[in-house]
Amino acid sequence: MNVEHRPAVPTNVLIVGVGGQGVIMVSKVLASLCQQAGLEVKQSEVHGMAKRGGSVFSHVRFGETVLSPMIAHGEADIMVALEWAEGLRWLDYLKRDGGTFIADTQQIVPPVSFRNRRRGARSGYAPATPAEVIDLVGNGFALDATRMAAGLGNERVANTVLLGALSTALPFPREGWLGVLDGLVPPKTTEVNRRAFDAGREWVQNFDRPAEQAAAAVAVPVSGDGLDHRLEITEAWCKGCDICVKMCPERCLTLNARHIVELTDPAACTACRLCEWLCPDFAIRVLTASAPAPALAK
Ligand code: SF4
Ligand code: SF4
Repeated sequence: MNVEHRPAVPTNVLIVGVGGQGVIMVSKVLASLCQQAGLEVKQSEVHGMAKRGGSVFSHVRFGETVLSPMIAHGEADIMVALEWAEGLRWLDYLKRDGGTFIADTQQIVPPVSFRNRRRGARSGYAPATPAEVIDLVGNGFALDATRMAAGLGNERVANTVLLGALSTALPFPREGWLGVLDGLVPPKTTEVNRRAFDAGREWVQNFDRPAEQAAAAVAVPVSGDGLDHRLEITEAWCKGCDICVKMCPERCLTLNARHIVELTDPAACTACRLCEWLCPDFAIRVLTASAPAPALAK
């Protein structure tokens, strides 16, 4: 594969998110593509302690010659954030003059951000809105990639939606991206990943800046958000380890006679999500229906 433009100075791409979102997949696709194009690539990543919601990041640097695998503060040409607050946390790595910011408006709110257990209390989650951040960086795209992916039938391909958005900022042809992507995703997800890639790519290409930014509001979550949350318990996955029961701050969970967890006091549950985060078997999900609806794909 040939790229039209082979810059002497390396291009720096920083990809950030939390455990389980697919940061490393995005990074691998980009690094493989650069290698296929005959460029020198250095990739570094940190994901050791990040299995359940911890920070994950990957630096990808490519060009004619690349000496260091690490991107310095203020030197990222492009940042891709798979989670909104992670994007804000790494913002000082982005070039202030010409850096491109691409972020999912998806919020993964850590339970520790709910320091006030009163129902309806504001969390300590990052309050900055997409419009504020994009004003600051100059060249940015905030899209609800997770919802776009869910609309395609699999919210786990949100990372591929963002990969498609990233593809518009780099000089590789669409077919090159898709060829690498096909080789890295499970065969049965090839089709949905291809559609997710094109959805992200087209979203950026058709981006209407004022309208999309106005729509892309990110509200600060509140505890017990709107009271219309619910717990989804996958009984087949619960092994009755009791962790969530012991750790629930509101004491509203118990194990039933079959040693499966049950929500015994829904009114007391504040949707803090601690049970979801601590369950080693992914048996609990806290679903909130009142989350804001940020920008959708056109
Ligand atoms: S059941 Fe889960 S979400 Fe509800 S208060 Fe307990 S730990 Fe938090
Ligand atoms: S932590 Fe998970 S596996 Fe353990 S009891 Fe709770 S739901 Fe079941």
